Amino acid sequence: MKALCWNGTNDLRVERVPDPVLVNPHDVIVKVALSSVCGSDLHLIDGYVPTMRPGDIIGHEFLGEIVEKGPEVRYLNRGDRVITVSIIGCGHCGHCRHGESSLCDNSNPNPDYARTAYGHCGAGIFGYSHAFGGYAGSHADYIRVPYADFNAFRVPEGVSDEKAVFVSDAVPTGYMAADMAGIKPGDMVAVWGCGGVGQMAIRSAYLLGAERVIGIDRYPDRLRAAQMKVGAETLDYSRVDVFDALQAMTGGRGPDVCIDAVGMEADSASNAVEDLYDRAKQAVGLQTDRPAVLRQMIESCRKAGTLSIVGVYGGVIDKFPMGAAMNKGLTFRMGQQNGQRYAGRLFEHIRNGDLDPSYLMTHRLPLDDGPQAYRMFKEKADDCMRVVFAPQG
Ligand SMILES: [Zn+2]
Ligand SMILES: [Zn+2]
Repeated sequence: MKALCWNGTNDLRVERVPDPVLVNPHDVIVKVALSSVCGSDLHLIDGYVPTMRPGDIIGHEFLGEIVEKGPEVRYLNRGDRVITVSIIGCGHCGHCRHGESSLCDNSNPNPDYARTAYGHCGAGIFGYSHAFGGYAGSHADYIRVPYADFNAFRVPEGVSDEKAVFVSDAVPTGYMAADMAGIKPGDMVAVWGCGGVGQMAIRSAYLLGAERVIGIDRYPDRLRAAQMKVGAETLDYSRVDVFDALQAMTGGRGPDVCIDAVGMEADSASNAVEDLYDRAKQAVGLQTDRPAVLRQMIESCRKAGTLSIVGVYGGVIDKFPMGAAMNKGLTFRMGQQNGQRYAGRLFEHIRNGDLDPSYLMTHRLPLDDGPQAYRMFKEKADDCMRVVFAPQG
């Protein structure tokens, strides 16, 4: 089959690779109809995620049709149109049973790297390095899905492929950011990053009762989408001081909830010295992640407010303002998404018309265009929010 493979930093190639086969009795094979790029793929492409190997297939947000199933798959059938949560749970460990499937004890067959780096090992992720299980990704004609009954969800009648595909990853990640922040009616929420996840975090914050949501970015098309599609007020951080602007908008209090939908490659266009410092430290390996957004959230958040982090971080950061966080009594919530817990609720919102993520798909392209498509996505050229590959045409 055809697949988009990682071959080194900024080196993606479309290659012929063997078709996947059923390995365990709980597996299914999905024929991929749509597979989206994700901001977290850029960390792989930019070489910030260790344990990638040449030939690894990337991609983790996808929709398709089940074409084969193992003998222990009970609830799904051949021919079902499904989305699959990008982070793999086993469905029966304590974490999976408590709605924390991204912390699954069983789905990562290579736990040693995470145990050494993090103390404990979390779940496997499709197309996201050998430290996260070495699972082949979805930018391919076919993909193997383990623990299929737990991870794959039948798309309800009346929900289009274009809406459903983002229930794999962007929608539940944004929703979880809002949900774990404990948003209450009347809250004022600020969201850093207006890419796919940030857009969904904005919409989710409103669904959970937020009164005002402010999206922060510097790309005009993303800011426009945040206003027009999900009703945010917006700040362009390359033009205004974010702290000052947020205080002015909240009578000097600061937002109740601050959401990070950016992660480790944050930049700080408003502060050249800080940006240079973070990039230099990262380049020589003295920090793995650039924490500009985290610093800004800690400074801006109201006292006793909540920071909710779904942008991906990999390792260690420098100059973290712990004193401000502690003395302001801030609460930190964070984690990889637990989409299995949210998929049913999110499909209901889509069916009711409360949520329509299909506008995230600004480009639909064949898999052969993969390398150029990722370049366009990375450079945010042509107002690209998300490219979605359609391997079957
Ligand atoms: Zn993702
Ligand atoms: Zn589990």
